[in-house]
Amino acid sequence: MIRGTVLINRDICKGCELCIAACPQDSLGLSDQINRHGYRYVQLVQDNCTGCINCALVCPDCAITVYQEPRAKAKSSAQRVPAL
Ligand code: SF4
Ligand code: SF4
Repeated sequence: MIRGTVLINRDICKGCELCIAACPQDSLGLSDQINRHGYRYVQLVQDNCTGCINCALVCPDCAITVYQEPRAKAKSSAQRVPAL
């Protein structure tokens, strides 16, 4: 089974919430903080990402990078593989 996580560039994100709607795991949510452009940015709010890459595919600003790793190796120092 694949485990995933995302890296979000908060200064590119404009808080449009498309990625939040696209995430089947409800892993994403808006931060209470704002970025340097004045937008609330998206952050990971649950540690249940499966690395499906839906969020990265819908983001119009390419603000999200998805990483996938085998769940069995998630607790080790296994190298992460960028999915997108
Ligand atoms: S990769 Fe999939 S599960 Fe993970 S945050 Fe993005 S949409 Fe959600
Ligand atoms: S789709 Fe992209 S720009 Fe829109 S909220 Fe998500 S990360 Fe930010």
